[in-house]
Amino acid sequence: MNKSELKKYEKLLLQKREEMIEQLRVNKKQIDTTIKDSTGDISGYSYHMADQGTDAMEREKAFMFASKSGRLLYHIDEAIRRLRKGEYGNCHSCGKPISKARLEAVPHARYCLECKEKEENEKSGVR
Ligand SMILES: [Zn+2]
Repeated sequence: MNKSELKKYEKLLLQKREEMIEQLRVNKKQIDTTIKDSTGDISGYSYHMADQGTDAMEREKAFMFASKSGRLLYHIDEAIRRLRKGEYGNCHSCGKPISKARLEAVPHARYCLECKEKEENEKSGVR
């Protein structure tokens, strides 16, 4: 893969990263609103008081990872890391280059289509 191609995928990844961060922000706002609504204003206040410090950070992390966008964000970060190390674009399973069409659709893809399908078939028990 040449430099301008790498740049293109890097841009795609960074764009997707922004989208995911925005998505997480929206999700989190919804969750905060739900908590406030169900507990009322006064207990909502004490909830937020007790929420400070590392506990809140742990909760944040758990939330990030529990959500689909959070996991996606993790994979996007990993892909950016690989790209900068010059390891981007090869399948993690068979080592062959991942097709450009696939990378354009899923820039954080770790597996080529063949390996991905194989893995999914194995998971669902189809041989
Ligand atoms: Zn493969």
